[in-house]
Amino acid sequence: MAQPWQSGCTMSFSHEIENLPNGSELCFVNVDSSRIQMQVEFASAGGLYSPEATPETAHAMEHMIFAGSREYPSARDFRDALRGNAAYANAYTFDDRMEYHLITPRNGADKAIDTYLGAIDAPLLAQAQFDTEREVIREELTGYLSNPNWLVWPHVETVLGFNPKPMQYHIDTLNNITPDDLRQHHRNTHAFDTMRTIVTGNLSDHEKARFIERLQGLSLSPVANVLQVVPTPTAGGDIGKVVFDSASNVNYLMGKFGVAGGSETDRIAHNVASKLLYSYPNSTIMDGGREQGMIYGANGGWNAGILNTYDFNMTGKVSVANAPRFMRLVRTALQGALELTDVDTLERAKTYTIASQEMYSQSNHIHSGVAAQLRQYGRVRTDEETQAIIESLDIPTFQATMRRGFVGGITTGTIVGKAEMLENDAVVGEFQETLNYLGKL
Ligand SMILES: [Zn+2]
Repeated sequence: MAQPWQSGCTMSFSHEIENLPNGSELCFVNVDSSRIQMQVEFASAGGLYSPEATPETAHAMEHMIFAGSREYPSARDFRDALRGNAAYANAYTFDDRMEYHLITPRNGADKAIDTYLGAIDAPLLAQAQFDTEREVIREELTGYLSNPNWLVWPHVETVLGFNPKPMQYHIDTLNNITPDDLRQHHRNTHAFDTMRTIVTGNLSDHEKARFIERLQGLSLSPVANVLQVVPTPTAGGDIGKVVFDSASNVNYLMGKFGVAGGSETDRIAHNVASKLLYSYPNSTIMDGGREQGMIYGANGGWNAGILNTYDFNMTGKVSVANAPRFMRLVRTALQGALELTDVDTLERAKTYTIASQEMYSQSNHIHSGVAAQLRQYGRVRTDEETQAIIESLDIPTFQATMRRGFVGGITTGTIVGKAEMLENDAVVGEFQETLNYLGKL
């Protein structure tokens, strides 16, 4: 039976970009859909642009943006107004930007879109609601304290040239944030010159004109007044750096191999590599259970508007006794991905990547994928183009891309765990060995 990615069934769409008189950018993605999906994003408004003393300011604003507006003063009224139209809104804080998403059926879309834009334009940011929401944020951040991904990330940021605060500091300073701070953050960062709206759906010319009218009617500042300038990351430094972090009280072992890159081929190669890390035969040794250790071969993209990093997270929730063995397995899997000689494995990984790409582009959440692609490449890459890139990865080009990524990028490792883990020579030695291996490539 022909697989979907072999049948030539691809989703096709065109897009138009309008530069509005207010200075913002509007992109229509013309795609057949019974729903309208839209995304308003503000560049230079995310976590990195919070005041230095209160790094959770942007995140707190995210929690409050749909928690009441002038039109619907209570969070519940606001939610009910959207739900009444079977619409759904959510907000996201990235390091560099804020994103506000809305999905609405066409029936009742006008009302849902007005409700959503009204909140983005003038959120109420009421004290009583913030008192509740702040505790939600506190709980969320406290959970991160036992998550090695979150504990290790500040170390990667340091390597990138940032000056991050530990997670505990984020928690400790939550109480210092006031609704006025949120208002100021909104005023400073939510401006037309950094605003982009992406609307997907099968819209008529009349509906498109309505969107332009609506966006023109918003009352945001014309120009953002950002508080901090993002430093230029120092890509290429600190290969093989080991950092120990005993801040947590859990036995986690974590290696984060961040790769700075960003070309299309790099992106696909790392996607393929992450699948390889899962499918590499040795990973089956770890099927004995989570306590034996798990490898997460992730290709998390991180975008500070400057470069993307692709991370391989090797996380093990392991006992001290199992830790040296686990680290050897991590290294073997990594070597397997880098020194790939098995045609079948590469072909399997490519097939899997193409299939997941196909599934993704046909999912209901096309807006995120489309937005990300438009943002990074200025145009929409077709499924055929993606497939061609993946297919062009023979073993030598794949290896060359991987090596370029590791050598030209950033490789850092962190062990997060109890003192007994950090003081164990065998654990540290195996970890260092892995980093040395990467540094020699
Ligand atoms: Zn949150």
